[in-house]
Amino acid sequence: MKYLKKSMLVTFSFFCLTTPAFASVPGVDDSMKKGATEGIVSASHPLAAEAGKKILEQGGNAVDAAAAIQLSLNVVEPMMSGIGGGGFMMIYRKDENKITMLDSREMAPENVTPELFLDEKGQPVPFNERHTTGKAVAVPGTIKGVEAALEKYGTMKLSQVVEPAIEQAEKGIKVNWSMAQYIDENVQKLQKYQTAANVFVPNGKPLKEGVTLIQPDLAKTLKLIQQQGSKAFYTGEIGEALVKEVQQRGGTMTTKDLENYVVKEREPVKSNYRGFEVVSAAPPSSGGLTVQEILKLMEGFDVQKMGVNSPAYLHHLTEAMHLAYADRAAYMADEDFYDVPTKGLLDEEYIKERRQLINPDKATTDVKEGDPWKYEGKDSPSQVTVKENNPIGQTTHFSVMDKWGNMVSYTTTIEQVFGSGIMVPGYGFMLNNEMTDFDATPGGVNQVEPRKRPRSSMSPTLLLKEGQPFMAIGSPGGPTIIASVAETILNVIDHQMPIQEAILTPRIYSGGYPTVRWEPGIDQNTRLELMAKGHVLEEVPQNIGNVQAVIFDYENGKMYGGADDTREGTVLGVDAVSYTSKEPRAIKEEEKGPFTFKVNGNVYPYTAKQMKLIDGKPFIQSDKLLLGLGVIESTDLETYKSDKNSYLPVVKVADSLGYKVSWNEEEKVVLLEKDLSNSDSPNDDEDDEIITK
Ligand code: GLU
Repeated sequence: MKYLKKSMLVTFSFFCLTTPAFASVPGVDDSMKKGATEGIVSASHPLAAEAGKKILEQGGNAVDAAAAIQLSLNVVEPMMSGIGGGGFMMIYRKDENKITMLDSREMAPENVTPELFLDEKGQPVPFNERHTTGKAVAVPGTIKGVEAALEKYGTMKLSQVVEPAIEQAEKGIKVNWSMAQYIDENVQKLQKYQTAANVFVPNGKPLKEGVTLIQPDLAKTLKLIQQQGSKAFYTGEIGEALVKEVQQRGGTMTTKDLENYVVKEREPVKSNYRGFEVVSAAPPSSGGLTVQEILKLMEGFDVQKMGVNSPAYLHHLTEAMHLAYADRAAYMADEDFYDVPTKGLLDEEYIKERRQLINPDKATTDVKEGDPWKYEGKDSPSQVTVKENNPIGQTTHFSVMDKWGNMVSYTTTIEQVFGSGIMVPGYGFMLNNEMTDFDATPGGVNQVEPRKRPRSSMSPTLLLKEGQPFMAIGSPGGPTIIASVAETILNVIDHQMPIQEAILTPRIYSGGYPTVRWEPGIDQNTRLELMAKGHVLEEVPQNIGNVQAVIFDYENGKMYGGADDTREGTVLGVDAVSYTSKEPRAIKEEEKGPFTFKVNGNVYPYTAKQMKLIDGKPFIQSDKLLLGLGVIESTDLETYKSDKNSYLPVVKVADSLGYKVSWNEEEKVVLLEKDLSNSDSPNDDEDDEIITK
């Protein structure tokens, strides 16, 4: 289902830009007077947020609350994360002013090879098949991670913080619009092995919004964990049932693999962005490094002056993404197996070298990885660059701050929505398909290997300002996570938006040339200008990510938060702030025009009203046609005037601009072709093209 997500906010953000009313701390504005002081949470479900708030009220710290939120999410948002998956928890400890990363990412079982996902002919098994088998399931890490976090940095016991989740599973919860939507979209997957279908599609009928969902098997599992801790999972009956099910579905996981699972505490990746310390997930996540590389590349431009979601801003952002994602594909994987040039990638000189590759006027068509190793004084090891080819899944992110100033930023996943589709019979939780985050083909740094962690994009991030906590932020969305997190940070720091607006402002994503994904609300003129620069914008908008953040106004000691609207995002403060996002309106399908307009094979987004057939020939509204062709101005063109607008003859105009043009009158398609990569930019200030009759 598609939703019109953010377009309402575009106008609002435009006004904010022209009439800013900001306090001195970014992300906070004068309308946000009532901040919390006793702690705050932001999560993608109101009941999970309630669970976290309750723990804070009981005197728990941010880690205790985060543990409760994760366990509750397993019940109220079971398709996104849980004990069958893994995640990264970033913890800021105020007393030591330090940030640490707890890595509970899933691990590959012992008995796997890099050829795991190849068929007999050596070809990769298609994603749709490979992600719903036992081979896709990696050894889960979540409950060991939560337990480790509580033991080291929490103040409460696992048996306490699991209480809200047990209650929600036992007494039941109302299925919300978001869960109903995800169930509806995944009926086939859930029915593949039936155990999950019995819970979410009982008697063949997908659960609808508003019905009560009671999960007795999951309640039993959570109670076992309450009594025995993570042992019940890793060396007990839950694990035995899990392994049996995985093996039955074609996987090789053994109880030994579960016993051998280890949580790792890691040093996060750090950089400085316009005076803020940005601290984020280290490898095996590619998220932290790639978010920071994008930010550092953008730091060299006057982002604020470009303006939010202007063509110039989105062009530079897209180019920065291409550079950073190319490095990601080449160098980022599990650091326990391959060295990752974490320092080189964020070295100021390396960033400068990469930034110089950005042409302000046109898309660069052949972006390759750089050589960050030379900034670490090492030779680049020979390696294969493997292209990202997995579909984008979903996950969940939540952020917490407590009254002592500790913060948690936690992104957690079972990979695709409902993971592998496999539920552990009798225990009521979904198993991940995280093995598919490895490359399907051997040869790269992210190939499948025993006991290795698959490369992730999860980017839980914390920002500090001169020793004070400032922001906890993250998002789901596979590789798009990186874009969502980077853009929201840019919206707060450069575009000076309050956090809620920064989250709801439409986003784009491009993991490599040429395709750009965009959210509803990215203006048509902007899209045309980007296409004129050589970018290819997807034909229809799609939502990107689901950001949850908390912000600390370090000047007045108040806490605020923002939550996304593609799920029931909720911000709850202990003593102030209570917000739940509303379900967005469905996206209206654009009416089809009388013909199709393509440049180099890409359909341009002209609306029906902007196109006319006059005497059987294609015409397009003058200003829109010129924008799409990258022409600033026209003089003396023979135009057709009607309904207040003027229209230009497409074939004649394109021809005069040096395009190869063809008009198929029967199929009603006009095709333009030109090598944009080598032509001078039509938007180049020095030689604006003026077309004449
Ligand atoms: N498995 C993905 C990752 O770790 C997250 C799932 C998603 O949000 O698509 O990067």
